[in-house]
Order: sequence, then structure tokens, then C-alpha cells
Amino acid sequence: LSDIRHPVSVGLDIAGDGPALPLATGRPDDLFDHDGQITKRPVRALTLSTLAPKPGEHLWDIGGGSGSISIEWLWAHPTTQATTIESNPTRAERIRANAADLGADRLSVVTGTAPEALSDLPDPDAIFIGGGLSDEMLQTVWAAMPDGARLVANAVTLEAEALLSLWHTDKGGDLMRIELAHAHPLGRKRGWKSAYPIVQWSVEK
Ligand code: SAH
Repeated sequence: LSDIRHPVSVGLDIAGDGPALPLATGRPDDLFDHDGQITKRPVRALTLSTLAPKPGEHLWDIGGGSGSISIEWLWAHPTTQATTIESNPTRAERIRANAADLGADRLSVVTGTAPEALSDLPDPDAIFIGGGLSDEMLQTVWAAMPDGARLVANAVTLEAEALLSLWHTDKGGDLMRIELAHAHPLGRKRGWKSAYPIVQWSVEK
């Protein structure tokens, strides 16, 4: 078991000596070194749930950021694999460091800009687009996806949301809007501070 890089084994290794990794997807953001560009914990949990990893499956994580989506995908099962594509070289290096620190082998990091950087990758079972969403990106990804593969795309801007709405009309699937708010100080009391809503489109080809 200790050879398997998985939170269950990590937890066993350090049990009694310090904090163990939580077992549910949507681990704390600060587990991952990041510069603010990270899919935040609750949205990450929903995104992994939609991506629905299964044993042996391969993820393309486009716009890897900190690598948190890929790393949680790899932690779902000891046989999953992931390729992340990140255009910012500093972030790509940070993904490599996070993966090494957190024992997430089976992750391949491509420093490059999608969709150009997507050629010559192993076939995906699931694709997540967390950055660089565009019509060209969706066209390329759709053409590269094997039948039965799953696509999940998150949009924050109105422009990206409009694009997902058009693709949802064309291809079907599920369009979900995630609206979250956290309690914040408001004077001497508290009020709800809303995060930007996120629109998530998911579809099976
Ligand atoms: N899911 C990530 C956060 C993604 S933030 C996490 O949880 O950490 C979006 C990322 O997409 C940024 O790091 C940005 O550099 C990257 N990006 C934007 N356009 C891109 C493109 N066309 N190809 C590859 N990466 C891109």
C-alpha cells in the first residue's frame, strides 16, 4: 500500500504524526501552492463530481493553474492518469512542484497553449477546460474527443458563458450555474459576499 500514491496511503503513513489528508474531493485550497488562480474548493468538488473519474481513465486538464483538478483526479483512484496543459511557464513549474510534493505521479505537465498544444496527447476519457475557453478551443477539443468521452467546461465571464450556451444548444448535455456566497464581516455584523457565478457545461460525446 505504501507504494501507492493515494491519500489513503498518505494518511496511513502519517497517521498519528500530524494532519492527515481529507479523503473527500474538494480538499483545502492551501494544500496546493497557488497564486490565486485555483479552482476554489467547493467549485472544485462539484467539478470533480461532474468529471466523474473511473479506474484507469485519463484526464486532459486544460489551463492547469495550480494543478489542483488533476491532482484530485489522480487521488480518486491509483490507476487514473492525467495530462495538464498550462501556458504560463511559472504555473506549469508550480504544477510539477505540487504534484511532486503531494505524491501525484501519473501526471504529465505540458507547458504550452491550447488548443495548439493538444496534438499528440494520449486519448482522453474526460476533458476539463478551466482556462482559455474559446470557440476554436471547443472545436478542436470536440474533434479530438473519442465517442463516449466527457467534456466539462467552466465559464466565469459573460463571453465564455454565451459560448457555452451556444454549444449547449448544439450538443446538449447539462448547463449548471454555481452561485456561492460566504459570510463576511459587514460593519459589526455579517453579510453574504457572493463569488462570481460560474457556469458549467458538461456533455458526453
Ligand atoms: N483549474 C486550475 C485553475 C485554472 S486558472 C486550478 O484549480 O488550479 C486558468 C489557467 O488557464 C491559468 O493558469 C492560465 O494561465 C491558463 N490558460 C489560459 N489560457 C490557456 C490556454 N489557451 N492554454 C493553456 N493554458 C491556458
